[in-house]
Amino acid sequence: MKLNLFTVAAFLLLLGSCKTHKPIEIDSDELLANIQILSDDSLEGRAFSTLGNQQAQQIILDEYTALGLEPVLGNNFLHGFSHTFKGKKRQDVFPIKNPKKDFSNVTDTIAKGANVIGMLKGPSDKSIVISAHFDHLGIIDGKIFNGADDNASGTAALFTIIKYFKNNPTKHNLIFAAFDAEEIGSLGADYFLKNYADKSNISLNINMDMIAHSEYDPELFACGLHHYPELRNPLEDVKSDKVLLLFGHDDSKNKEQADWTFSSDHRVFHREKIPFIYFGVPDHKDYHRATDTFETINKDFYIESVKVIIRAIENLDEYLAN
Ligand SMILES: [Zn+2]
Repeated sequence: MKLNLFTVAAFLLLLGSCKTHKPIEIDSDELLANIQILSDDSLEGRAFSTLGNQQAQQIILDEYTALGLEPVLGNNFLHGFSHTFKGKKRQDVFPIKNPKKDFSNVTDTIAKGANVIGMLKGPSDKSIVISAHFDHLGIIDGKIFNGADDNASGTAALFTIIKYFKNNPTKHNLIFAAFDAEEIGSLGADYFLKNYADKSNISLNINMDMIAHSEYDPELFACGLHHYPELRNPLEDVKSDKVLLLFGHDDSKNKEQADWTFSSDHRVFHREKIPFIYFGVPDHKDYHRATDTFETINKDFYIESVKVIIRAIENLDEYLAN
């Protein structure tokens, strides 16, 4: 009898360690089509509080509606907010040349923006917030800064991830947060956490910002384990033969690597002691340049990055639910 129990236990252990995942299936053509739309010239670089930014909001809103997400609070996916730049002229806040209007007498600039937030409801009260900022730098010196990698890549990935998890339900609620105004200090993420997030029920923030451009090796970083080492196992379990998933860029004492703990919207969650994992690539030659376009992203790397992130979400959801 003892031997049998032992055999059963050993078998179960073996089963557990050999747990094979089915491959992640996504529509990669659709993913590429969406990043192309979001980084199109017609959106004029999606700068906070511009028409192109509002067009991006509408595209995200239409996707959320078509994909059948639920609103998080109230009836709307769009959560507008305004921000006053005290003592700043409009042209100081937005380096966009607008010959039609003269803002030279303005002392305070009130700017309006909106996050687009939707949810796939899970069986528990606990939520994972999956975020990507959709704003970028706009038009500078007459050049459109399309921000394909930064961060049409994360925004288009949201749509693919929603579609995947609609068919592969998680144990947590998944809150999909397309944040505005990251480029000028995470105003959108800040508004989200201060105003309508049930902070105590957020188990984790997964933030994506620049996941489509690999300069040399196909390296994607998952940053945050220095602060939240308990999340290491589910991430170590993510395997890919096309993307090198690396850990780091999260320790200010490590002089070899820049610390990205406060580099994007995940900083807002971290300040509230909500664990985060941030996915991104190192700064590259097109970073914050007009050359960050659909043409200069690495398509195969991007598709594989999104699959890696989906697997990571699956593993983290499972791990945090237990
Ligand atoms: Zn960014």
